[in-house]
Amino acid sequence: MAKLYFHYATMNAGKSTLLLQASYNYQERGMHTLLLVAGHYKRDDRGYISSRIGLEADAELFADGDDLLALVSEHHAHRGLHCVFVDEAQFLSEAQVWQLARVADRLGIPVMAYGLRTDFQGKLFTGSQALLALADELREVRTICRCGRKATMVVRLGADRKVAREGEQVAIGKEAYVSLCRRHWEEEMGRVTAEDLVGFARG
Ligand SMILES: [Zn+2]
Repeated sequence: MAKLYFHYATMNAGKSTLLLQASYNYQERGMHTLLLVAGHYKRDDRGYISSRIGLEADAELFADGDDLLALVSEHHAHRGLHCVFVDEAQFLSEAQVWQLARVADRLGIPVMAYGLRTDFQGKLFTGSQALLALADELREVRTICRCGRKATMVVRLGADRKVAREGEQVAIGKEAYVSLCRRHWEEEMGRVTAEDLVGFARG
């Protein structure tokens, strides 16, 4: 039985590196993979997946409204696919996550989706919400906060390098992201002040 996997992480956890490595493992055995990436990540209208350590591969772009079952079926008919990889899976719609579930269930091709769980305000992305609900297997890609605890949250820094406390969910440009543990995220977002913590033990 082919499965739908969701590998979730915060920013800078190395999920694209893991994706490219896993795809390479298939290719090394002479198997075919299809790489998909959200339309936000393109260069001269071509999609690509790149990792911070320098790995890069071309990828098919997906946009809102694209039928991913149809897209995967077309590639599968052409060259026989053994696995489908999806990067920036948080940008999938709920309908597209169902289409990927059907790729696993009906076409028998495993789907490995990689994405962020939550946005900088600590809210689930649409694609991540659907994947958390529907995926057969959930795998956390871990990274750490500056304090050494596991980072599960992300803050967005604006062009002024200050932490953004509100704004659009998606901003791709000069912004930078920092992954933090929940405690430090709440402090950076101004949700907890020193007075709030009077009387509580400090960890
Ligand atoms: Zn921390």
